[in-house]
Amino acid sequence: TSPDANAAVLSTIRDVPGFPDPGITFKDITPLLADPVAFAAAVAAMAEPFAGRTDKVAGIEARGFLFGVSLAARLGLGFVPLRKAGKLPGRTLAESYALEYGEATLEVHQDAFQPTDRVLVVDDILATGGTAAAAVRLVRRTGASVAGFTALLALDLLPEWPGLADVTTHFVLPRS
Ligand code: AMP
Repeated sequence: TSPDANAAVLSTIRDVPGFPDPGITFKDITPLLADPVAFAAAVAAMAEPFAGRTDKVAGIEARGFLFGVSLAARLGLGFVPLRKAGKLPGRTLAESYALEYGEATLEVHQDAFQPTDRVLVVDDILATGGTAAAAVRLVRRTGASVAGFTALLALDLLPEWPGLADVTTHFVLPRS
């Protein structure tokens, strides 16, 4: 993907200061979803480094589903949802992680992956990295391995993400 395509993607992401709380600038991706050309470029750029190096795509609820399903279709791979607690009907594994206030849990079906699967984890935005780190732990607990983590962008909050030290991370846009 070209720098021009990435600039087109960036121009569709809307900063919303003070949402959902004062002091937070929310990155609104709904204009990107509504723009088919920019969305296709974003998905292509998210997938690019992992083509031929991954066997399944795992998306983090909920915005990771939007990008993850599209990316899986593009790569010709199956998709696995990493869901919030209590949503999956089968036997599950769970990983909890800290939020600014309280805790959240991600779950996956125990039989979602084969032990030989190299899994690409997908979300829209990385902030503290806590959600992505929990997703990586969850995938590894099923016995599969993690091919990497891909997202549109990482917020410029932390110099590094402790839970992702041994994970290949890829972002379409510069930190912002
Ligand atoms: P974190 O666990 O802190 O890395 O937060 C990442 C998750 O929260 C992702 O699923 C993002 O969609 C969401 N998120 C965190 N901060 C923002 C933000 N400023 N704008 C939009 N989404 C965000």
